[in-house]
Amino acid sequence: MVRITYIPSLLPGNVMYHCLYPSFRRRTKTETWTGRSGSPLLDYHFTEIRHVGLCSIFCKNGKRILGERVLAKLNSCYVYTCESRNPFLQIFFFTLLTGSLCIFFNTGWKEVPGPYLSSFHLFTIPLEVLFTYACYYIACAADPGIITKDNVKKYMELYPYDGLIFEAKDCTTCKIPKPARSKHCSMCKGCVARSDHHCAWVNICIGHNNHRYFLLFLFALWQFLLYGVYVCFQIYHGKVQSWGLSEAMIRDAATGQDVPLKFRKAMLYVLQEDRIVGALGILCAVVSVIVFCFTLYQLYLLARGMTTNEAFKWEMVQDAIYRGEIWKWVNSKSSSGSGYFYREFEPEETTRGIPPLKGARMVKDFAEVPNLYDKGIIKNLVQILFPTEV
Ligand SMILES: [Zn+2]
Ligand SMILES: [Zn+2]
Repeated sequence: MVRITYIPSLLPGNVMYHCLYPSFRRRTKTETWTGRSGSPLLDYHFTEIRHVGLCSIFCKNGKRILGERVLAKLNSCYVYTCESRNPFLQIFFFTLLTGSLCIFFNTGWKEVPGPYLSSFHLFTIPLEVLFTYACYYIACAADPGIITKDNVKKYMELYPYDGLIFEAKDCTTCKIPKPARSKHCSMCKGCVARSDHHCAWVNICIGHNNHRYFLLFLFALWQFLLYGVYVCFQIYHGKVQSWGLSEAMIRDAATGQDVPLKFRKAMLYVLQEDRIVGALGILCAVVSVIVFCFTLYQLYLLARGMTTNEAFKWEMVQDAIYRGEIWKWVNSKSSSGSGYFYREFEPEETTRGIPPLKGARMVKDFAEVPNLYDKGIIKNLVQILFPTEV
């Protein structure tokens, strides 16, 4: 069987693409797949996911050992915990944040103002706390841009199909057309416009409407954590001063002479004596690095004009290019102007290296495949910060 799908494209120029599939078919060793990923190039990935041999072995034996009822209960627990919208991580984050703040106000607050912390911090610390809570609430509560029958037309106009990673199709669950860049979220129970990812920390999808609030929350959290590190450090710095450690001398074991106590050793001494503020400072430092890395990744994707969901799809495209499975087809006689072609071959039809259609040229470099949604850093940023009202 040879299947050819033609998808009209909005890309400039008479350009078409071919995709050959033999290599992934050999790799996955399964022919029973029905679902579509939303992209002709990515279906093979879902073929791999459906190849769940280990899981079926566990289910078979689990039923025998635990019994049907226990297994069903375990399954429903798993579905609620891992596959449904639940507030577990929200509660965890809220408890960690509130608990840490309670500990700080109980122990470190009395050190403000101190030798290295002016009374200005008596206002900025509560302000920072309120700002972080407010940003978190907004990120959790904002509508991500759920696609409905009423607004689907506007989203279709806003995000055209590129025919490579997004093709025209309906959502099988919502029974409405699926605009490009959207993704159905089984947890949010709907298709989300320009879906980035489902974030369990805010318990909602990040999409067209709330991406700006998510970035605001990341920024708020990151600067709050850095501020936390600064405050904890300066509290310790003040203790080094007030305990007289900055002028303290210690006897050098090697020379037998008295030498001034180094700042690093003085800080370690304070940490030994008063561990709580130090532990909070270290926690803030560790989490701030994680939040910073994640924010940096989000900004990188923003600069490249792609969402987290699309980054994954582009990776698949890149892999397909390296395997020599994507072909460029320039059709000057095409009445529709331009578009993509996707062709699926049976294993025996493998024609690696041979053009699937006359005149086709193998895409050898990822740079040859344009990203229709990348409008440049400034426009990408504006699109996220000021999304079109739908
Ligand atoms: Zn849907
Ligand atoms: Zn979601």
